[in-house]
Amino acid sequence: MWRQAKWDEPLITEYRGTGRIGFMVPKEDIEVTIEIPEKIRRRNDPELPQLSELEVTRHFLRLSQMSFGVDLGMMPLGSCTMKYNPKIEEDSARIAENYHPLQDETTVQGNLEVIYEMQRWLARLTGMEECSLQVPAGSAGEFAGILMIRKYHKEFNRVRTEMLVADTAHGTNPASAAMGGFKVIYIKSNSEGLVDLETLKGVIGENVAGFMLTNPNTLGLFEENIKKIAELVHLVDGILYYDGANLNGILGIARPGDMGFDIIHLNLHKTFGVPHGGGGPGAGAICANRKMKDYLPPYVSREGDVYRFVSPPKSIGRMSVFHGNFGNVLRAYAYILGLGTDGISMVGRMSTLATNYLISKLRDVRGLDLIAPHRFRKHEVVFSAKRLKEETGVTAFDIAKALLDRGFYAPTIYFPGIIEEALMIEPTETEPVEVLDAFADALKEIVDLAYKDPSALMNSPVNTSVGRLDQVKANHPSTLTPSYRVLKQIKNQIRDESRIER
Ligand SMILES: *Cc1c(COP(=O)(O)O)cnc(C)c1O
Repeated sequence: MWRQAKWDEPLITEYRGTGRIGFMVPKEDIEVTIEIPEKIRRRNDPELPQLSELEVTRHFLRLSQMSFGVDLGMMPLGSCTMKYNPKIEEDSARIAENYHPLQDETTVQGNLEVIYEMQRWLARLTGMEECSLQVPAGSAGEFAGILMIRKYHKEFNRVRTEMLVADTAHGTNPASAAMGGFKVIYIKSNSEGLVDLETLKGVIGENVAGFMLTNPNTLGLFEENIKKIAELVHLVDGILYYDGANLNGILGIARPGDMGFDIIHLNLHKTFGVPHGGGGPGAGAICANRKMKDYLPPYVSREGDVYRFVSPPKSIGRMSVFHGNFGNVLRAYAYILGLGTDGISMVGRMSTLATNYLISKLRDVRGLDLIAPHRFRKHEVVFSAKRLKEETGVTAFDIAKALLDRGFYAPTIYFPGIIEEALMIEPTETEPVEVLDAFADALKEIVDLAYKDPSALMNSPVNTSVGRLDQVKANHPSTLTPSYRVLKQIKNQIRDESRIER
């Protein structure tokens, strides 16, 4: 019989004692002639699960139903761009299984051609001169960018200690800057959610190595003073860095290079339809304009009909082994090829349309305040549930959990940190209008319920395989799995050691 999977589902090794097997090895194939020394021989039978193939299939499919993914429903997770990933990408990625990373370059010319073409496409889409696909994540792209900026100033024997970061920035921005040895200076946003020019003028000086920014910013707002910002940063020969994790809002419409940015990283997951989440592998690109391209990690160049990896003259060096995360490059390649030039600009238009459509349905909801209400959004929007919390006790956290019960993934909450009770919604371009309507209705229904019977929301979610978690317990070291504890130890060790070095 079918039943809903629950959190205490047995492990597969717990299915024992049935004597069932899924596969029989032909007897004559397994004649073992090696003498296994007595002392390393197994005393007991291995604890293998005893299940038929059918039972194994049902077990794993049941487990998979405990989870939620974009193939099941809308994931309006702001700043993460959880769009639908076309399945043809998976077919394309299988090509990567057929080659070895140590193969001679002459035997993998097709792969290098794909990397080369991607570099050209991404350079064209961003308005940059050259790209490298060596970075395995967005944050790795940022770190590469930071190292490039550091090397650039070193070239002129300058001591530049400060990296400017917008106060709405993704947490990886200050983290990358700090890992690169810079002091992080936060630039305050003004009441409209944009970079405050006066604040910027106040801090810009000979100590500033660069400014990390994203446009549209994390509130989904386009920095209309971007030319002025670029001018101010360039006045002291600072480097303007673009966090292009989510390029959705302007993809095929506007280009960071034309806005005055010098370096940009892209996430191939998020913007270019590569599946992500659940800790799956990502992939990025790091691109630079004429001024900064000589500092890039290695990239593929084309000489006549031959493709090969080259290191630009002042390169910061490799950021990953071999050809980077080539499987994901293939996925993104299939994604871009599938859309074509017209399709690519539809991404920018449709993600912007979807966001503003949702705003039109939600802007008058009592208790939810739209940040910078008179401004047009790009790919995402932030509401504050501060008023709702004051009037009913129901928080952004409760809303997120209640949405799970109604068949939606939660929006990003409590980010960016400058907005209290933030709900950051990114519908993406791939959701049909009926789903956007249903999402808006669900959110309205939750808010209505908050005013009528707030206690009804405090225990959500109840329709999921795992109920509301104890937040303290979930984060306490004593509840961590042993392997995670070891990982944490290693992380702390690396952190302590890098501190000493600096
Ligand atoms: C996701 C994200 C990053 C980091 O990308 P990862 O691939 O997760 O390292 C950086 N900046 C922004 C704005 C992001 O949304």
